[in-house]
Amino acid sequence: MIRFPLSTLLRNERVRENVTGLPLSHRVAERLVPGRTWPEAIEAVRTLVNEGFQVSLDYLAPRATDEAMAIDAADRNSAVLDNLATMGMARGADLTLLPSSLGINLPDGENVAASQATRIGQRAADIGATITIASEDHPTIAGIVRVVEAVRKVVPTAGHTLQARLIRSESDCAKLDSGAARARLCRGAYDSPAHLSYSHEHDINLSFVRCLKLLMRGAGTPLVATHDPTLIALAGEVASRSGRVVGDYEFQFLYGVATDEAKKARDEGHTVRILVPYGPQWEHYFWHRLQSRPGFGLGLYAKTLANRA
Ligand SMILES: Cc1cc2nc3c(=O)[nH]c(=O)nc-3n(C[C@H](O)[C@H](O)[C@H](O)COP(=O)(O)OP(=O)(O)OC[C@H]3O[C@@H](n4cnc5c(N)ncnc54)[C@H](O)[C@@H]3O)c2cc1C
Repeated sequence: MIRFPLSTLLRNERVRENVTGLPLSHRVAERLVPGRTWPEAIEAVRTLVNEGFQVSLDYLAPRATDEAMAIDAADRNSAVLDNLATMGMARGADLTLLPSSLGINLPDGENVAASQATRIGQRAADIGATITIASEDHPTIAGIVRVVEAVRKVVPTAGHTLQARLIRSESDCAKLDSGAARARLCRGAYDSPAHLSYSHEHDINLSFVRCLKLLMRGAGTPLVATHDPTLIALAGEVASRSGRVVGDYEFQFLYGVATDEAKKARDEGHTVRILVPYGPQWEHYFWHRLQSRPGFGLGLYAKTLANRA
């Protein structure tokens, strides 16, 4: 019998189109993306805040192909900040910013992305919120590091995202550490060439722990972004061995993933932030999650079917 891995099937464009078009897929997607627009996502945000979670709002905008698109994405993020302020929910909130939506791939893209991110970051700082710049595919990483450095000159609390999968992240952790800096450490969701990245789960985990130690011993605020219960427990241990107390660091989860782990960490008194995605590129985000963890995706389909029965 020929074995055809599910992950290979999920990379096929026709399969993607057919599966995402199914009405059931739209219901499954709602478990991971609570709104296609900001007004649709607000209710989920309010519920999370009432349950004692912090949030990071991730506007899933298309990749900017001209400066007007980058400005539009920044304007929409700023409008969300205004809206949060009006609702009295701005203090402690965070926005996750995608460099590709802020123009990093354009000619002169680093300047465009840095100036748009700075504009949003200043507005966020005015109302007690923060921004965190996401990490994307490997050709953009060096540019993203420079963008973060530029933004932090004006907005020192701007957060940076590091992918443990990438070999360079360990030195980036040391380089980007400073008193007010916030550093989000995740495994990394993008395929990268072998000479730039670790490919085995075990090596990625070891890199995650090395980065974790650097960040916990550093001067900034580590943001531990994983759903893996072993890494979460380890982060707590490294934190206390580094002299940190609860509140000196936080745990971060994606909306709809490992919700029991998130509640457990919250009940233990930790700051737990949920990344809430919304926006026009929801289908891309949804498919990416299914692709990276096919087993998790199948489980979501099974749960959604069971709820319908
Ligand atoms: C807040 C946040 C921001 C992110 N930003 C970025 C970014 O900017 N760039 C980027 O490339 N990636 C980003 N990611 C995604 C990240 O890189 C990973 O792809 C994603 O989080 C999956 O890796 P994980 O460490 O969470 O492990 P997972 O694969 O989710 O889980 C790890 C292991 O734990 C198990 N597990 C998970 N949940 C449970 C549970 N509840 N009980 C028991 N076992 C469980 C799984 O089966 C698996 O074996 C982000 C993730 C988060 C949480």
